[in-house]
Amino acid sequence: MINKKQGNLFIISAASGAGKTSLVKKLLTLINDLTLSISHTTRDPRPSEIDGKDYFFVTNKIFEAMMKEDKFLETAKCHGSFYGTSRNFVEEVRDAGKDIIFEIDWQGAKSIKAIFPEAISIFILPPSLKKLEERLTARGQDSEDTIKARLSAAKSEMSHVNQFDYVTINDKFDDALEELRSIIMAEKLNTKHQTNNYQKLIDQLTK
Ligand code: 5GP
Repeated sequence: MINKKQGNLFIISAASGAGKTSLVKKLLTLINDLTLSISHTTRDPRPSEIDGKDYFFVTNKIFEAMMKEDKFLETAKCHGSFYGTSRNFVEEVRDAGKDIIFEIDWQGAKSIKAIFPEAISIFILPPSLKKLEERLTARGQDSEDTIKARLSAAKSEMSHVNQFDYVTINDKFDDALEELRSIIMAEKLNTKHQTNNYQKLIDQLTK
């Protein structure tokens, strides 16, 4: 039995345009002690993105050096760019007893699950392919070619849905948000975590 409070790990995956980033941003404001794992990426920042907040934007050279130094828990190549989860960041946040949310693709989800089998994975689906295309276009941050490539990649990403613990359909933002919040809150209250985190209280109440 581990006596130290250990944070929960939540993985959220989806095809681009399913609304994952907006949902995660909102979740972070609603749930205490939930910290986003900020990934490193070699892709260019989108106009609204901030270095160190949305991602750590790095060159291929820096990314490769970090890989050699074993700085990543997992890495994946997605849409021609590299993405990686920082080992140090996850260890520090987790040891501080805070919950972590990973916003990563299915490959990352598989790797994180292999390292931390207790991690809870959630997949967000769009309500239809048509809606997905509309959302990717409305975002107005990617070129037409990029959108086409992302749409075809979306189908392949979504084919991994069965590997996840939970699935939510993001048709209405508020409904999807409530579903995600419910999954996270239920997992936080899981007996295994609660008995670990509140062992002292349980001892006081039962002895
Ligand atoms: P985007 O370029 O749209 O921000 O992200 C593209 C894909 O890469 C998304 O599915 C996103 O969740 C995923 N991604 C972002 N960071 C990481 C990471 O550190 N590891 C993995 N495996 N995927 C990531």
